[in-house]
Amino acid sequence: MQLITNINDLIDWRNAQNGTIGYVATMGALHQGHLSLIQNAKKNNDKTIVSIFVNPTQFGANEDFSKYPRPKDKDIELCKTAGVDVVFMPEASQMYPNEAHNEVNIIPPVKMSNVFEGALRPGHFNGVLLVIIKFFNLIRPANAYFGKKDAQQLLIIKRMVSDLFLNINIVGCDIVRDSNNLALSSRNVYLDSASYDIALRIPKALERVSYCILSNKLESSEIEKAALDVLGDLEVDYCKIVDFNLESIQKIKNGESLLLIAVRVSGVRLLDNFWF
Ligand code: AMP
Repeated sequence: MQLITNINDLIDWRNAQNGTIGYVATMGALHQGHLSLIQNAKKNNDKTIVSIFVNPTQFGANEDFSKYPRPKDKDIELCKTAGVDVVFMPEASQMYPNEAHNEVNIIPPVKMSNVFEGALRPGHFNGVLLVIIKFFNLIRPANAYFGKKDAQQLLIIKRMVSDLFLNINIVGCDIVRDSNNLALSSRNVYLDSASYDIALRIPKALERVSYCILSNKLESSEIEKAALDVLGDLEVDYCKIVDFNLESIQKIKNGESLLLIAVRVSGVRLLDNFWF
């Protein structure tokens, strides 16, 4: 496996490639969720490249940018074992040569980005799209793999690719969960054991949602209420059913809607969702 930290070396590597490239964007602190994206990429492409970059432009001033976990050596080992061909791990100065606030910006559609994560984290998706389009332009992948766990991010990236006619296939990958069904997240390391137990109300709420579907309860308000009942007194940022444009809908439609959940447990924000 090759470790590349410099953009010129990445360009040289890319120019030497003939086959298809599968790309996985990450912020590191890799877990089985990331590894499942890597496995998908390996299955369907000639070469697999993973970027590991804690992107400063997608963090707000009061967020966890500086304390975000960065176990570099462990991440490199995991990628090696997983059979990744290239890890691209640049410094911020490589990705933002003109300082981020001084650069061209990519602005997502307001209706998709001023809601949910975007409402709570102003500018977050501008930062995500800016770094992702830079990676896309450098790597020119045939396929790029993103987790359904970050549903809003996945839908906004799909819109960018479609609106800007980028020739990249975006593949949404299933959420990987631990043995108690909590969605894996690099931020789960912030949870102590009491908070972890409380966080398990999230997968329990999703179980209740499956039960609603099985009992043919399809009204959004009914399903949202069932989930909220299980979340109980957790601090819920949102628990809402939307279509793929992130607009509210009255009734779920199979293959066209999802429930988005964000809660805070002991100050740790946890995201999860259910794709109908
Ligand atoms: P991050 O390192 O948190 O930016 O995540 C990198 C990619 O991994 C994103 O596309 C995430 O949606 C995806 N991802 C994170 N956690 C999971 C998970 N539990 N299951 C599937 N994909 C995930």
